[in-house]
Order: sequence, then C-alpha cells, then structure tokens
Amino acid sequence: GLPAVPSRPLSVRRLSRRIEVGSVAVGGDAPVSVQSMTTTVTSDVNATLQQIAELTAAGCQIVRVACPSQDDADALAAIAKKSQIPVIADIHFQPKYVFAALDAGCAAVRVNPGNIRQFDNKVKEIAKAAASVGTPIRIGVNAGSLDRRLMEKYGKATPEALVESALWECSLFEEHGFRDIKISVKHNDPVVMVNAYRLLASKCDYPLHLGVTEAGPAFQGTIKSAVAFGALLSEGIGDTIRVSLSAPPVEEVKVGIQILESLNLRQRRLEIVSCPSCGRAQVDVYTLANQVSAGLEGMEVPLRVAVMGCVVNGPGEAREADLGVASGNGKGQIFVKGEVIKTVPESKIVETLIEEAMKIAEQMESDGAFS
Ligand code: SF4
Repeated sequence: GLPAVPSRPLSVRRLSRRIEVGSVAVGGDAPVSVQSMTTTVTSDVNATLQQIAELTAAGCQIVRVACPSQDDADALAAIAKKSQIPVIADIHFQPKYVFAALDAGCAAVRVNPGNIRQFDNKVKEIAKAAASVGTPIRIGVNAGSLDRRLMEKYGKATPEALVESALWECSLFEEHGFRDIKISVKHNDPVVMVNAYRLLASKCDYPLHLGVTEAGPAFQGTIKSAVAFGALLSEGIGDTIRVSLSAPPVEEVKVGIQILESLNLRQRRLEIVSCPSCGRAQVDVYTLANQVSAGLEGMEVPLRVAVMGCVVNGPGEAREADLGVASGNGKGQIFVKGEVIKTVPESKIVETLIEEAMKIAEQMESDGAFS
C-alpha cells in the first residue's frame, strides 16, 4: 500500500517570505494552498456564505470575493466573520473599498496595479492601514488589465511587462516599509504565464499566487492550469494556487487539490489506478472505474484502488494497490494488499470493492496510519 508520507516532490521549494492570510500561512515552508473565488453577488451575504461553505467542504483553504460596489463592501464584515476560511476582498479601482475590507477583518486584500492610477496618492495610507491590522496585500497583475504605460512600452502583455507592473506596484508599498505582500502575474497563455512567474521568482522573494487567468471551460482550463502549475511547481515556484474555470468554483478546488496531489505536494487521497482498456478488456472498464470512483468519493484516506480490464496487467497492478480488481471471464478477482481475497461475478465487483475499501479505510483510521 501507499506509505503514510508521500514520496518526495519534484524539486526543492523556492525560498519565499512567509505571510499569514488569516489562519493560512502562505510562502516559506507552508504547504501550497488552494484558493477559489465565489461567483455569488457578494452583497448577498447568505448566498455567498453558502457558497463559501461548499468550497470549504471541497477543501478550499482561502476564498476571494469580488467587491465592485458599496453594498459589497458593506457585506464584507459579515462574510469575513462567518466564513470558516480566510476571505480575501478583490478590489479594483476603488481605494475606499480597500479601507472597508481592512476594517471588515478580511484576511487579505487583492489590488490590481493596472487599475491603480486612482490609488497613486493612497498607497501610503493603504500601507499604513494594512500594517496596523497585520493584513497582507496581494498585488494581482492580470494581462487583460495591464497598465497602459506598460502596454505602450512592451506592445503587449509579455512576461517582462507583467513582472515590471508587479514589481513597480510592490515598490510603491515598499517605499512605505510595507512588505506583507504576495504577487500574481496571470495570463491566459500558459507559456507566457510560466515565463512570467519564472522571471518574477528570480527577482523577488515574495510568495507567489499561481493562476492561469480566463483558462476557459472545465476541460481546457483544467489542462492549461495543470500544465502551467505543474511546470512551475516542479521547479519549486508557487505558494498558493487558484485554478480559474468557467465552471462552478467547487470544480476549481477539486482540480487544484488533484494537481497538488499529483505532484506529491500534498498527501494523495483516493487514487483510482484504472487501465485505459483495450481490445483485450473483458469488462466495461470505463463504467467500472467511474462507479468505483463515485462510490468512494469523499474518502479522505490515501487509498489506491486498481480497476483493471483483463488479466494481462490486471493482477500485477491490482497487487501493487491497497485494493483492486482484475477482471476476466465475467468475474472479478478482488485483491486486498496483494492477496486475492475472493472472486465475484461481474455484477458484484463495484459493491465488493466499495465494501472492502470501507473496511481498509476504517482500519487505517483506527491505526492512525495517515494524517
Ligand atoms: Fe488492455 Fe488488460 Fe491492459 Fe486494460 S489491463 S489496457 S484491458 S491489456
């Protein structure tokens, strides 16, 4: 079975400053955290808190809420107070909402340097107010709203332009002794995004929030984010992540967690090792894998379950897993920790696997074999 401690990640982490976003540390040696953003109207406090509760249940660790109006700013205090996870207020254009968010007890505030012209003479006050309550600021540069001056200088949102924008904004805060900062430089093209973060990582020690912006619908966005985050995290770059999908935010969280688990940056939980199926398959592997996956959803223990279509690789993989099935001749050989414990008819494979998985999970839990 899987060891309780995951095998090593691909590389050593870049050494970043550590900041505290409410109860969640970001940067330094803190684990890479998963964020998302609500899609409700923020001023609808109940709907927003309901969505935050769903995100929290899915494993989201930090949530961001948009704050485009005074009503939204007024709702921040109730949301920040009742949310189970730290709330970041996302603010464009309006310095007064930054002060409102700080007063409301938000765990951090995100500002966008592309929209910062209005902030010019306010940075000092913002830095002072944020420092006095110990609240960090995220400098969130976005290719779609890059400062006009930099657009003119670079012609488009190149990695250099994104990084210059972010570091310029940091310098405005640094002038006032404020360094409680994390940075994002998002772009919708994973290649530009990866290059931007690499450049940024080489130029500062602020913790970095990774994101491919406007990544698209679930399938495309999942792949773009996985590829880009994978490239960066495999080099040790990235302290917190947000997968952006044109899909419900809970899906973003699931994808984010899966990315971290795949890179061994977080202990893997349920893992279905299923074969792609081929002409030798003697059962419907897709259906079987989906049914087992659905039946075990939400399981927190690091359980590796093999679902194999035939007896070629089947028994081997099934034996390597905590639990598995190798199918053939309308039957399934069920393996637990490498031993065939029984052979069941095809119609009983799913329920038998689920039953055995529950037993192993209970055993693991009572042994305290995982954290
Ligand atoms: Fe094909 Fe069998 Fe391998 Fe599945 S386990 S891909 S059915 S050979």
